[in-house]
Amino acid sequence: MRGLSHGKLGLPLFVAVVLLAGSAAAPSADQSQRARSAARGAAEGAQNDADFAAFVKQATTKPEFLSPLVDHLPRRAGVPTPKEILGYHIGTEKKLTYTTDQFRFFRTLEKALPGRIKTFTVARTEEGRDIVVAFISSEANIKSLEVNRLNMQRLADPRGLPEAEAQKIIAATKPHYHITAGLHSGETNPPESVMELGYRLAVSEEPYIRQIRDNVIVSITPSTDVDGRDRYVDWYYAYKINEAYEGGENYGGPPYWGKYVFHDNNRDINYGVDSLRAHLEWYLNWVPPIWHDVHEAQTLLYTFSGQPPQNANLDPMLYTELPFFATYEVNRMTNYGMPGVWHFGFVDMWSPGYLGFSAANHNGMLRMYEVFNQGGANTKKARLQGSQTTRQWYRPNPAPAGEVDWSIRNSINYAQTGLLTALELTSKFPSMVVENFYKKSANGVAAGLNKPPHGFVIPAGQRDQTQMDRVVNLLRRQGIEVHRASGSLTVKEGTFAAGSYVVKLNQPYGRLAKTLLEKQTYPDPQLNTYDDSAWTMPLANNIEVKTIEDKAILDAAATLLTSDVTTMGAVSGLAQGTFLAVRHNGSLNLITLRYRLKDLAVKSAKAAFKAADAEFPAGSFLVPFSDRARKEIESLGLVATAIPEMPEVEIVDVDLPRVAMYTTWANTEKVGWVRLAFDRFEIPFDLIHKDHVQAGANLRAKYDVIVVPHQTQNGKSVVFEQPKLSRPLPYKKSDEFKSLGMYAETDDVRGGMGLEGVTEFQKFLDAGGLVMTFGVSSYFPAEFGLARGVDAQRPAAGWYAPGPYVQSEILQPAHPVFYGYLGQKTLAVRWADGPLLQAGPPAEFAGFMGSTPERPQVLARYQGGEAGVLSGLMRGADQLRNRPMIVDAPSGKGRVLLFANNPIYRWQTFGEHALVFNTLLFWNDLPTGPAAQPTTTAPPQ
Ligand SMILES: [Zn+2]
Repeated sequence: MRGLSHGKLGLPLFVAVVLLAGSAAAPSADQSQRARSAARGAAEGAQNDADFAAFVKQATTKPEFLSPLVDHLPRRAGVPTPKEILGYHIGTEKKLTYTTDQFRFFRTLEKALPGRIKTFTVARTEEGRDIVVAFISSEANIKSLEVNRLNMQRLADPRGLPEAEAQKIIAATKPHYHITAGLHSGETNPPESVMELGYRLAVSEEPYIRQIRDNVIVSITPSTDVDGRDRYVDWYYAYKINEAYEGGENYGGPPYWGKYVFHDNNRDINYGVDSLRAHLEWYLNWVPPIWHDVHEAQTLLYTFSGQPPQNANLDPMLYTELPFFATYEVNRMTNYGMPGVWHFGFVDMWSPGYLGFSAANHNGMLRMYEVFNQGGANTKKARLQGSQTTRQWYRPNPAPAGEVDWSIRNSINYAQTGLLTALELTSKFPSMVVENFYKKSANGVAAGLNKPPHGFVIPAGQRDQTQMDRVVNLLRRQGIEVHRASGSLTVKEGTFAAGSYVVKLNQPYGRLAKTLLEKQTYPDPQLNTYDDSAWTMPLANNIEVKTIEDKAILDAAATLLTSDVTTMGAVSGLAQGTFLAVRHNGSLNLITLRYRLKDLAVKSAKAAFKAADAEFPAGSFLVPFSDRARKEIESLGLVATAIPEMPEVEIVDVDLPRVAMYTTWANTEKVGWVRLAFDRFEIPFDLIHKDHVQAGANLRAKYDVIVVPHQTQNGKSVVFEQPKLSRPLPYKKSDEFKSLGMYAETDDVRGGMGLEGVTEFQKFLDAGGLVMTFGVSSYFPAEFGLARGVDAQRPAAGWYAPGPYVQSEILQPAHPVFYGYLGQKTLAVRWADGPLLQAGPPAEFAGFMGSTPERPQVLARYQGGEAGVLSGLMRGADQLRNRPMIVDAPSGKGRVLLFANNPIYRWQTFGEHALVFNTLLFWNDLPTGPAAQPTTTAPPQ
């Protein structure tokens, strides 16, 4: 499926080329005539839809928000128009289209025009909906889609491809231009725009569109987050449709889009969400040289041109292609008189984690639009203001500042005009697009061959094989080739044991491997970036990866992995087993094992011990011997030894807590990542919210641990969320709105737990419960007095830290939270915008409390300062010096564990996950009272 076995394609490919030669490109249309002919909508043989022409004129709020490309709609005998399929013109006020209707739309067109449209169901979503891609091109191109795909695959991996043959393939291959809409469900116009676009491309006989059909293969994903689109449309029809033309209440959006995440579906760098991974796999199968992702924001259309900071590993040619396209679009749309079209000055080219970056990361090109709209489909008064209405070199004709009526049809006009323009440009230079893709792919191989580093090695024998396997599988997921050393291998950097993983960089995606594995050296500390400044995988995973400059690594004897690795665990000494001693080596699968064996009395050693000639670190499990336990240990990649009797160390029961996860309604996304991780590692929990912490909730009767993931902006917003409106906004399933009420239900998503809820949290703690807070949520216990003696402060001016990896110091390495870290003194963590904590004796008792159980313990702290920034950018790093990272604050009979870091951030910070899992496993075995050593840390003055 991933199309990585290019080597086998040699012979069929040659046949393919010959086949394609019969379907030569149509001659170029006279472009100077094109706009004018389109303007009149009077291309030869075309019959336009008079009803549409009247509609679009009326639905567009000002003539300059319309273009000659979309002011008319061609008809074709036997093919239903969008209105005939959907029942309304696309862009009708108060009409949004559900995905089933979108898919019906494309499938109906496919039936009516089978030669020009072909739909594919790519995968299913988390909620069981189809993910659909529709291809549109000429009859000849649709017939040879598979041939073209194989050609693209051959060009994507040009190793062993003679230049002359490459040129032959390029001449016979059409550029494939992929368009995606609806990644962000709150952005409502793109999924509408691309439907009408698909219709035009299939039906119109205007010369420039015929040229697009002949020279370009277009594919469209009409809704990228399919589940989210339907939920948003439900919410729109339930509430937003009633929003006023001017002023009045804004009903926001549904509390969930897809199952787990919102906007972060554009930041899932490791493709942890299944439906996002499906888009990546689809990309790697088809390798379209262009992936154009259409979003909604900005005034009035922003086209991405790849501004700094830029990832220098990406091909230099990419940085010329992006402005080439963007400038053309600005030029054409300005020519059509459409104001507010611009490039530059918004999104940069630093993080590789955006979904459409799959293309840029794989030697293709990510293109992106942001188109103005106001959410939903109501025509509303908009106030255009700020820098985006100013004239700049990259915005020669800005949108006028001031009030304007804005309709969704305006947005559709802009998005479609831009896309048609981009496709028109592609159709003028089809070979250039394909050739550039080939050249970038060849450059990718050459980069790893010609200049160091030439490879990376993940040395065998690190503490936890499962973590190394995970990294390898994440790399392979992105099409990166990984080898396993068949014997011990020696390069300048050292000797590595057999079984070490080797990434040789002389491969098409070698530069992506480098991007993911290396330290991010931020090019200019004065520049801001749109998302994270760092993602270094060895740091995120707490494993050792060696950068190899020695070119000999390219010839190292190693076997290419052809499937994901899941190293089986090892159980030794089976003969005399009464117990299985399972090493706590930090594997995240340990908690999965415990839950799979939840019916067994699993115990754990509080200190390291030796048994059957093996060393077991503190926290190791002691499981009653059984075949079932042995099989689970093996399948989870854990390491165990069967032993005849309990070792002579202090033992605790690993009894499992009843876990609740607290979510606000205002901000469910970061909670979603923790839900995803808990689901994947098989940790059961109840998702609770404000309704569950009403007065008299008695949380302690139901739960032992409450996890409060990173969410909202501060303690106050965790407690009070968004204010109530004049009417409640229920999130509940109904016959009409079936996708509402999933994952949680409430009669009103507005208004938070309030102070009554805080009191219930305190009662939970008083009765011995454990609360864990992550990242920003750690403001909550500090600001509301649940964690006495802990203060939470905000960074002062001069601070800017977009997700760098920073150094932390483990102050109490023997604490159960650090089991499996095996005495590590430091730990790289991602800076998570949590509070700057200060922990000490509660100030009001200073002087007579001394070291009582009230005193919070700092378990780990940030190093801070420039030297503490391990990857990426942190301005003002001195403010972090010695700030507590994990604080254990006794409260009543219970305790609050405040994590200033976010130990479960996206599907990414696996090196920190164990901090959480250990806390769950040993929730009632954590030491009480002051620690053996003084650990209170006051920040510098
Ligand atoms: Zn967006």
